[in-house]
Amino acid sequence: MAVPFIDIKRLENGFQQKWIEAVKNLSNNTAFIGGEVVLQLENSLSNICGNTNVVTCANGTDAMQLALRANDISTGDKVLIPDLTFWATFEAVVNVGALPILVDCNLKDQTLDIEKVTHAITQIKPQAVLIVHLYGWAAKEIKTLRLICEKSGIPLIEDSAQAFYVKVDNQSIFKDAHCATTSFYPAKVFGAAGDAGAVFCKDSELAEKIRLLTNHGRSTHYGYQAIGWNSRIDALQAAYLTISLEYLQKRVESRLDFAKRYQKELAGITGIKVASPPENIISNGYCNVCFIDDLKIKTELEARLKENQIGFANIYPSTMSEQLGAEPYMNPLSTNYCGDNAKWVCQHIINLPLFAYMREDEFKEVIDTVKSAFQF
Ligand SMILES: *Cc1c(COP(=O)(O)O)cnc(C)c1O
Repeated sequence: MAVPFIDIKRLENGFQQKWIEAVKNLSNNTAFIGGEVVLQLENSLSNICGNTNVVTCANGTDAMQLALRANDISTGDKVLIPDLTFWATFEAVVNVGALPILVDCNLKDQTLDIEKVTHAITQIKPQAVLIVHLYGWAAKEIKTLRLICEKSGIPLIEDSAQAFYVKVDNQSIFKDAHCATTSFYPAKVFGAAGDAGAVFCKDSELAEKIRLLTNHGRSTHYGYQAIGWNSRIDALQAAYLTISLEYLQKRVESRLDFAKRYQKELAGITGIKVASPPENIISNGYCNVCFIDDLKIKTELEARLKENQIGFANIYPSTMSEQLGAEPYMNPLSTNYCGDNAKWVCQHIINLPLFAYMREDEFKEVIDTVKSAFQF
């Protein structure tokens, strides 16, 4: 039986009707950009994200560029980013004219190695740090890193594209973040019906600066105060997200249930380790994370999964420093803090199917296939 890596068609009863109704209303009013639905979404997001300031925007990549720009990061500035991340992180830094300084990850939660960050802060005095919370968890030591950056007067930007609804010490990851971003790309835990994103920040003035940038730097109808661009969310996305919000808790619970069961079912198998979030972090169940030491066994497992038409992923199969597109930005300064951990993760990681409302027979099929690959 084929099992998809992810299936975002598994919607709750009644969801589609609500969505169709919302599309009808917005179409009748031709209210496609901004308006009440966007305000309502931003209010709801603020409520569930620790009452912080929220500015919605066009996508998660723009969200990072907005955050960087609003923190005055520009030409020639140095920004620490993880070598292990999605390419958009690298792009965002380059697109504002800054130089990405790649830093290795730790092997506990696969986020920035804080010791290396601290060293880099004193040695090369970067203008910003951009941490990425991967896999639907967050960095165990995020609060420490926030303090380090605050004390050094360096803005910390958090790419939480995969971490919406994640909690740190039982509170939203966005509460107390100087500046954090997320993506509502359809395949994320909280996905829209197209592209959308948001920036969260503690300071309301910074939030207003970001809002200005999302709308051409416009201060009055024909008055422009800054060079921004068009990074507005559209009303249809806002409506889809507002409806989805009613079901988000249930979706996350379903994901977390399967996440836990992967731990339990695969615990006894030597050779594969199901990773789990740090103990102070509550995950959103974005993805399953397994590490396999023996690369021959990993290749064997991947072949077995393919044979049985079971979707899987490698998030990510290579680092930023290994990308062709990164070459023009590579130099000793930008790669001094790279290391072997990020490369190890890329080689040894495999992600098994995990999504809301997976079926029992699908889950069993995945478990049976994995077990069979480890029986020699
Ligand atoms: C999805 C993702 C992004 C990009 O978000 P878009 O909305 O697709 O622009 C950025 N960073 C990370 C870590 C992501 O997973």
